[in-house]
Amino acid sequence: MIPIIAQVALPVPLHKTFDYRIGSDMPVIGGRVRVPFGKQFKVGIVVALSDTSDFPLEQIKPINSVIDAAPLWPSPLYQLLNWASRYYQYPLGDALGTVMPSHLRKGKLAQRERERVWQITESGKDQPLTALNRAPKQARLLTLLRSGAMTHSDLLDTELTAAVIKAVEDKGWIAPVENVRAKPWTPGYAVVEDKPTLNHEQAMAVATINANPEFGCYLIEGVTGSGKTEVYLNLLEPVLSKGQQALILVPEIGLTPQTINRFRRRFNVPVEVLHSGLNDTERLNAWLAARDNEAAIIIGTRSALFSPCKSLGIIIVDEEHDASYKQQDSFRYHARDLAVMRGHEENIPVVLGSATPSLESLHNATTGKYHHLILSIRAGNAVKAKHGVLDIRGLYLESGLSAPMIAEMRKHLSVGNQVMLFLNRRGYAPALMCHECGWLAECKRCDAYYTLHQQSGELRCHHCGTQRPIPHQCGSCGSTQLISVGVGTEQLESQLASLFPEYKTIRIDRDNTRRKGALEEYLNAIHNKEYQILIGTQMLAKGHHFPDVTLVGLVDVDSALFSNDFRAPERLAQLFVQVAGRAGRASKPGLVLLQTHHPEHALLQSLIHKGYDSFARAALQERHQAQLPPFSFFGLIRAESHQSDMVEQFLQQARTVLDASPLEDDGCAVMGPAPAPLHRRAGRYRWQLIFQAPSRKMLQQRLSIALQAIRQLPLSKKVRWSLDIEPQDMS
Ligand code: ADP
Ligand code: ZN
Ligand code: ZN
Repeated sequence: MIPIIAQVALPVPLHKTFDYRIGSDMPVIGGRVRVPFGKQFKVGIVVALSDTSDFPLEQIKPINSVIDAAPLWPSPLYQLLNWASRYYQYPLGDALGTVMPSHLRKGKLAQRERERVWQITESGKDQPLTALNRAPKQARLLTLLRSGAMTHSDLLDTELTAAVIKAVEDKGWIAPVENVRAKPWTPGYAVVEDKPTLNHEQAMAVATINANPEFGCYLIEGVTGSGKTEVYLNLLEPVLSKGQQALILVPEIGLTPQTINRFRRRFNVPVEVLHSGLNDTERLNAWLAARDNEAAIIIGTRSALFSPCKSLGIIIVDEEHDASYKQQDSFRYHARDLAVMRGHEENIPVVLGSATPSLESLHNATTGKYHHLILSIRAGNAVKAKHGVLDIRGLYLESGLSAPMIAEMRKHLSVGNQVMLFLNRRGYAPALMCHECGWLAECKRCDAYYTLHQQSGELRCHHCGTQRPIPHQCGSCGSTQLISVGVGTEQLESQLASLFPEYKTIRIDRDNTRRKGALEEYLNAIHNKEYQILIGTQMLAKGHHFPDVTLVGLVDVDSALFSNDFRAPERLAQLFVQVAGRAGRASKPGLVLLQTHHPEHALLQSLIHKGYDSFARAALQERHQAQLPPFSFFGLIRAESHQSDMVEQFLQQARTVLDASPLEDDGCAVMGPAPAPLHRRAGRYRWQLIFQAPSRKMLQQRLSIALQAIRQLPLSKKVRWSLDIEPQDMS
C-alpha cells in the first residue's frame, strides 16, 4: 500500500479524526503535521495512514507541512495515551494536545531550544546604579544579574523587555553565554552519600521488587518514617546501573526541595523536575531530556506520568492515595491508575507507596492483584503519636474549640511546643445570619450561603467566586443584628489571637498560599518556631514533618463522618494518620485530639483503637455492601444549564440510551438523573447521572457504545455536559 491519506487527530473537542492528502513529504504515525482546519491551521497527530478515504479525494485538503520525521512518543507511551483516550472517553487529539509541551502543541520543532543565558560583565559589576536613575529598568536588570546569571526567558518573565536587555548589552555591561546542559548522562551511577543499612522489612521489599524486573504492581504500605523513600532509593540502583530511567510521581504539595534533594544527593546522575512553575521552554527541555535519555531520574506531579522516557525501568508513585493524582477537569485521568497501565505497557515494575493506601489499592492488594509489602518499623528516631477523642456533646464551643482542647493547647504551648489545628473550612464563617428573623445571606447564583471573609470585608461564594461587601442590614427585615454562623479558619485564627495573645498564629490554606513560594516561606518560618500555633486545612498534612508540634487538634471530625461524599471518612482517616505520623519526635511524642459529637461512631472507633488497616477493612466492607468503588466502577455524567428542566430531560434521555441495550444481566446499573449536591452554581442548574459497572472493561464497553448515541441527542448540544470516569469528587 502506498498511503495517500493521513488520518489526523486534532486538538478539538470532537470524537473523530480528519483525513488529509499526503504531499511529497511522507508523515509518520505518531508524528505531527500542520493542516488547514476551517480558516486556520492546526497542529495534529497522524494516527493512521491509508490508501483510501470515505470522502471523495478531490474534496480532501492537503497536509500543509510535516513537522516530525519520527513519532513524538515512544511506542508504549503512545499506546497508553490511545488507551487513556478511550477509557476516559476523551477525544484523542485533545488528549494528545493536553499532554505535550505547549511549544510542541504550537508546532515548534522537538529539539532543544538553545537558550541564551545573560551574565554580568566586569564593567557591569562596577557600574554605579545611581547613574541609571533615568533608566530604572536597566538598573533593575543589572541588580538582578549581579546576584547570578539568568536565562533570557526568565528575564522576560520579570517584565523586562528584549529592548532593555539589548540596550544594556550594547553598553557592554552584560554578555550572553550559551546554556549547555550540566551533565549528559552516560548509563551507570555512583552512590555519592553514605546510605543507611536497610532493616529487614526494607531489605525484603527491595529484594521482592528487584527479583522481577518485568511488570508487577507493588503496594508498599509503610507508616510515616518507616523508610519508604529509602526503599525507593535502593530500587533505583539496579535500574540506573542498567542505564534505564526512573519516573517518580509525587503529590502536588509533596514536590519540595527536600524531596528532590534526597534523590539528587544520593546519585551522581541528572535529575529532571517537572512542576507547574516551569515556563514553556523549560518544560520542553525537560520533556526532551526524558526522551533523549539525558535525565536519569524524572520527578514530578501528576502530568509527569506522560514524560516520554526513552528507556524506563521503574515507576514509583509516592503517597498513592493522594487526591491530586486525579485530574478534575477536561482530560480527567488518574495518574496512579495510568501509572499501572504504563508499567504494563513498558513491562516494568510499578511501586505505589503510602502510609495510608487508598481503599482501591488496598482492595487490589487483598485480592492478590498487587503485591502487598508492609513496613512497620519506624526507622531513625521517628515516634508514634498518642491520640484521644474529645466528646464535645453539650460543651460550650469557642469558635469551634472546646474547653478541654483549649486547656490542652495551653499545656503544650507553655512548655515551648507548637500546636496545630485542622479545620477543612476556609473563611471566617460559613454563613451570615440575621439574629432577629433568621435570614441568611445567600448567593444569588448558587444554592449556597455566602462565606463570611472578615479580613477582606467581603462575602464570598466558594462555589462561583462572587464577592460582595458585607451588608450592614438584614436583607429581609432590615435589622442590623447580623451574626456569623459556624466556624472557618479565619475565625479560628482571630479567636486564637484573643485566647492566646502571647503566641503567634499562622493560617495555611488555599487563600494565603497562592503566591509562588509562599508555602515554602511559611514552612520555614514554622520550622524556625516563629509561630507557635498553626491552623491548616488538609494541605498541611502532606509531606511535611513538624518535630516541634506536640499537639494536633482535628476541630471538626463530624462534617467528614456525615458527609454526602462517600470518600470523606477515608480522607479523614488518612488525615488523622498522616498528622499523627508527622508530629513530634522521640524526645517529644505528639498527641492527636479529635473533637466529635459522635465518639461511638464505628469507623472512628476502629480508626482510633485499631488503626488505619482495621478502619480500611471496615470501610471496605461498607463499600462492598453498598456496591460502591472499588467494588464497582462509576461513570458520572454531569450536566448543567440555565434551564433546569432541559438538563433533567437530557439526562433522562441519556438514561434511556444507557438502559436500552443491557447485555443479559451484565450487572450494570444507572442511577439518576438527580440534582447535584450543589444544585445551582453560578446561575446554572446541575444534574447528574451515574452509570455503574462491575468491571472497568464493562464500564468502557457500555459507555463507548452509549456515548455515540448520547452525542447525537439534540439536547446534548444545548446543555453543558461532561463525563468523569471513576470520579474522585461527586459534587
Ligand atoms: P518515609 O518515606 O516512609 O516517611 P523515609 O525514607 O523518609 O521514610 O525515612 C525516614 C527517616 O529514616 C529518614 O531520615 C531516613 O534517612 C531514615 N532511614 C530510613 N531507613 C533507614 C534505615 N534502614 N536505617 C537508618 N535510617 C533510616
Ligand atoms: Zn455562588
Ligand atoms: Zn432579619
